[in-house]
Amino acid sequence: MLSCKELVALSSDLLDCHLSVRQRVAVRMHVLMCFRCRRFIRQMRLSQAALRQLPQGQSAELDALAAKLAELRRQQQ
Ligand SMILES: [Zn+2]
Repeated sequence: MLSCKELVALSSDLLDCHLSVRQRVAVRMHVLMCFRCRRFIRQMRLSQAALRQLPQGQSAELDALAAKLAELRRQQQ
């Protein structure tokens, strides 16, 4: 079973669809049982969708922001 920390580490690859089938299954299992990670993934997806709406150029800055948020989240574990 994946820990919350491992899930956070995998989350950006998950959203970019870079995970193996096994990793995706592990993430899905964890998210089903863990409310906090479910909320975290949902927020990641929402911010990623929001990023796509923005014109080019702003997204690099927001990528940095997203990375910072993920880092903060890691520190809370
Ligand atoms: Zn979790």
